[in-house]
Amino acid sequence: RAKQSGRKRFEMFDEALAKNMVDVLTLEAELRHALQHDEFEPYFQPICRLGDGRVVGHEALLRWNHPARGLLRPEDFIRIAEDSGLIEAIDWSMFELSCRQLMLRDRDDTFMTLNVSARHLRYADFDTRLLQLLQSTGLPNSRLIIEVTEGALLDDAERVHATLERLRVAGVGAALDDFGTGYSSLSYLHSLPLRMLKIDQVFVQKLDEVGPTSNTSGVMVEAILALARALNIQVVAEGIETQTQRRMLLDMGCELGQGYLLGRPGALPVPPDAFGT
Ligand code: C2E
Ligand code: MG
Ligand code: MG
Ligand code: MG
Repeated sequence: RAKQSGRKRFEMFDEALAKNMVDVLTLEAELRHALQHDEFEPYFQPICRLGDGRVVGHEALLRWNHPARGLLRPEDFIRIAEDSGLIEAIDWSMFELSCRQLMLRDRDDTFMTLNVSARHLRYADFDTRLLQLLQSTGLPNSRLIIEVTEGALLDDAERVHATLERLRVAGVGAALDDFGTGYSSLSYLHSLPLRMLKIDQVFVQKLDEVGPTSNTSGVMVEAILALARALNIQVVAEGIETQTQRRMLLDMGCELGQGYLLGRPGALPVPPDAFGT
């Protein structure tokens, strides 16, 4: 009897596994199709001064206009895009579109940040290729900041460091994304050529929660701000949703932030003279 039910369970598991494999293969095929049919598009979320709300930059965020399932966010497909290696082609088309749209829509001095997945930084020619893209789109190097995560830096620290340094010399900035959630040691932070630290939204969103985690988050945020000040690195707080969070961050000395309170990801506003009138 036990054997019987054991086998049954095994069969059910097998079926789930098979279904999952089909899902993965379907999604992979759809991703390839999407690349050829320009279904990926950048959404831009404003990065603002917390004091007066002035927009100083935008983060470009990947969206997939799926023909049947509507607008998809990275969490719906990024794992499979990364595992299949398709993320590289997706990212490059995303980078190009983002640069072009920023050039068309926003001629001010605002900066743009792009999320760069860890595997790009392993390529020796990543920086050369990125600089070529900037040149061909006309976006000034100084207006671009690439966002990398702590994990990406740990992977092959020396190579990544050299790549970021070459980009820095060319005027392109680097931001450490989701800061505080990874395991990077503080000691090596100062050696990295970083222009910006982005405080992960988990800390921001706990600031005005009731309970002990709120205090802990406040302490974390203050420590990050002190560190960044000492290293002369700009800080952006992510995921600000309430006025209280904005106020608390401002009081702690955090000058820049992004989040639904300040603006959701969307299209860049079309400037009044965009049609040459
Ligand atoms: P991230 O870089 O940390 O981006 C911030 C995420 O938080 C975005 O999710 C954004 O829409 C969301 N967000 C912004 N404000 C708020 C808020 O007030 N509340 C909450 N709850 N969420 C907020 P999104 O667009 O779904 O992107 C998720 C992640 O996917 C990004 O996290 C980034 O790691 C990755 N990603 C986005 N675009 C690209 C891309 O072009 N290439 C690659 N490789 N990864 C990307
Ligand atoms: Mg980011
Ligand atoms: Mg982030
Ligand atoms: Mg994140």
